[in-house]
Amino acid sequence: MRKLFFLLLSSLSLMGVVLPENAPFAGGIIVQEINTAHKPKVYHGKRQLMVLDTEKKGHYVVVAGIGLSQKAKAPYKLRIVEAKKEQFHTFYLEDKVYKKQYITLKNKRKVNPTKLDMKRINSEKKRSHTALALFTPQKFETLSMVKPVDVNISDDFGKRRYFNNKPRRPHSGVDMPAPVGTPIVAPLGGKIVEMGEFFFNGNVIFIDHGLGLVSMYCHMSKFDVKKGQMVKRGQKIGEVGQTGRVTGPHVHWGVSLNGAMVDPRLFFVKQK
Ligand SMILES: [Zn+2]
Repeated sequence: MRKLFFLLLSSLSLMGVVLPENAPFAGGIIVQEINTAHKPKVYHGKRQLMVLDTEKKGHYVVVAGIGLSQKAKAPYKLRIVEAKKEQFHTFYLEDKVYKKQYITLKNKRKVNPTKLDMKRINSEKKRSHTALALFTPQKFETLSMVKPVDVNISDDFGKRRYFNNKPRRPHSGVDMPAPVGTPIVAPLGGKIVEMGEFFFNGNVIFIDHGLGLVSMYCHMSKFDVKKGQMVKRGQKIGEVGQTGRVTGPHVHWGVSLNGAMVDPRLFFVKQK
């Protein structure tokens, strides 16, 4: 099934836009060609999805993020709206098993926050949800990302986590361990839409890349950008730190597509 998509897509020119890998499973991305007379709007539930033009009229590509909680073999439906017509396309996702990870934290408040902490956590959650839910217009030059930090990137995306033996949400990004002060760069151009010092995330920055693609960088020691600023692919945004819920200096990098946290490594595709 994956090969078929690949063949379909390789025959299309996307005005030079490099696409992420097709990975039809929880935490992955569906990259699918659709054919409609005019450019459609495509949705999964209430979420609008990224649709890209190709050089062939009537041919478009949908790039849809799949949430980590999405069950394999359960139908994943795309609603394709063109003028007043509506059609559905159903996918059955591949199974993907993520490993378990046990983490011990000495700071018990970061595992069992106080009532006052919870108030702060909830307001920060709202701010990050708002940033991650953005869907702003964009004409991409590329979707090929560069590494935010020049280190090997671990395979800990999606791991089912236990903090001091208590089950917590799965790991929705990748961790990049590096010494405090190591530069962090924007993997793709965009706008700094949110930033601050959060209880769990520490010093955090959110970049809106457009069409539902938003990325976040946590536990930073220093910011080099301001809210509202535009940044270019490869531009320094700040430095690695160990703020928030951490066991050592690293950056937690999360990539959200249509509100679903997906594996950032799927965007490491070579720029031609
Ligand atoms: Zn992390």
